[in-house]
Amino acid sequence: MKYYSTNNEAPNVDLRTAVTEGLAPDRGLYMPERIVPLPEWFFKEMESFTFREIAFEVAKHFFGEDIPEADLREIVFDTLSFDAPLVHVRDSIYSLELFHGPTLAFKDVGARFMARLLGYFLSQQKGKVNVLVATSGDTGSAVANGFFNVPGIHVYVLYPKGKVSEIQEKQFTTLGHNITALEIDGTFDDCQRLVKSAFMDEDLKKQLTLTSANSINVARFLPQAFYYFNAWAHLPEKDKKLVFSVPSGNFGNLTAGLFAKRMGLPVHRFIAANNRNDVVFEYLKTGDFKPRPSVATIANAMDVGDPSNFARILDLYQNDVKAIRKDISGTRYTDEEIRETLGRVYKQTGYLLDPHGAIGYQALEDNLHPGEAGIFLETAHPAKFTETVEGVIGKGNVPMPERLENFLRNEHMIDSLNASFDAFKTFLLEHAE
Ligand SMILES: *Cc1c(COP(=O)(O)O)cnc(C)c1O
Repeated sequence: MKYYSTNNEAPNVDLRTAVTEGLAPDRGLYMPERIVPLPEWFFKEMESFTFREIAFEVAKHFFGEDIPEADLREIVFDTLSFDAPLVHVRDSIYSLELFHGPTLAFKDVGARFMARLLGYFLSQQKGKVNVLVATSGDTGSAVANGFFNVPGIHVYVLYPKGKVSEIQEKQFTTLGHNITALEIDGTFDDCQRLVKSAFMDEDLKKQLTLTSANSINVARFLPQAFYYFNAWAHLPEKDKKLVFSVPSGNFGNLTAGLFAKRMGLPVHRFIAANNRNDVVFEYLKTGDFKPRPSVATIANAMDVGDPSNFARILDLYQNDVKAIRKDISGTRYTDEEIRETLGRVYKQTGYLLDPHGAIGYQALEDNLHPGEAGIFLETAHPAKFTETVEGVIGKGNVPMPERLENFLRNEHMIDSLNASFDAFKTFLLEHAE
């Protein structure tokens, strides 16, 4: 299978190139040239399949031409060492819990899959690859844990000093081995600037193989289609029309859902659920896409003012806003509304949401029509946002999973740098292979 760029000004490439390059040379995002529908027997038998088996069938339709079946099976099965259960919350509303992986957030799936795929490609060639990732918290932990101990790969996580919560920080600063945590005396934007400059620097390009692991990478966003199929397989109310509500920031998760629909998954429609960073909500209303700087909210993994995967959605629908509106509607919620939902749902049903999942849940409560069943993506474990959640439901009421406690017990290993590119470049030249 070949991959084309959404900007249509770069040559089509194979999977290996799309994964190692990340962004196309014309700064567009790579898209698979074909979306192959899954066969009818698969939908009939899916209910008796495990999550891994479902994912493997879906993966074959994207990656089957490029990777031998046995290797692909190993990559998929290794990625999904955890489940993504569908939990009934109330009426026809279900939570798809995507927080049972190593860092308790949905990004674990894509990060782990990309790490395994890159590791597979590297096993066929010599040399080391250096993965650079800038993070405001959650991406760094998912990428660091996904790539931990993968041979041939070293990861450099850049994060703004003092601006990441302790829980988030411990998830990528305590691993060591092939994971280097770089605390930058600056902001998240500084970190992102350093990474971008590194990719454009001629000296670094000559001496090192560099790649990025953010959500624009096809190997990170496509595997997110796996759990949409798994959710449908476990949905009790299949006679109803299925609505997915997706708490969205960079829109990788929602785009993966659109791919699942194109592959034949019977999804009636999607809801793009936003916090106050609502440029897509505005686009659906007005037809104008106007990116703007992000604002800080309590659902901070969704604080994105210029969602990069939106280019993929426009490409899928050939810029036709009317066609997009048929499949996607938008909602947005303030911090006060998120807190209200979180507290009320806990009190009325006993189900504990995280701030991101609360947005997805509320979108269903407000927009589900008779005859529809709704699934919202619960994208992170509430314990990752203990302070916010306990601020609503009271201290000591958020169960702390063992996995998080283990991270908190371990010691930091951090290198500190100032925010200048010279310092970062020197560090890479001295440490990277
Ligand atoms: C990254 C993230 C999101 C947003 O997902 P996108 O694919 O970027 O739209 C939502 N919730 C959590 C917890 C996240 O970490």
